[in-house]
Amino acid sequence: MKIVFDADACACHGQCASAAPELFAFDDAGHLKVLIEEPPEELWEAAEDAADVCPVQAITLVR
Ligand code: SF4
Repeated sequence: MKIVFDADACACHGQCASAAPELFAFDDAGHLKVLIEEPPEELWEAAEDAADVCPVQAITLVR
């Protein structure tokens, strides 16, 4: 799985970082960063939770 993140669509409210803190975090400038672009299988469920919770569909999972 690969996480594709649309920074232009992101509204930076952080639901993804709450749902999957292993995968998403804010940098010092307040921009969301994907911590692991190709997560191992044990984090796929967390990635799906983050994609589901994003209100603007800024996270796409490619398999
Ligand atoms: S949930 Fe979506 S809009 Fe919110 S910070 Fe994450 S990617 Fe951005």
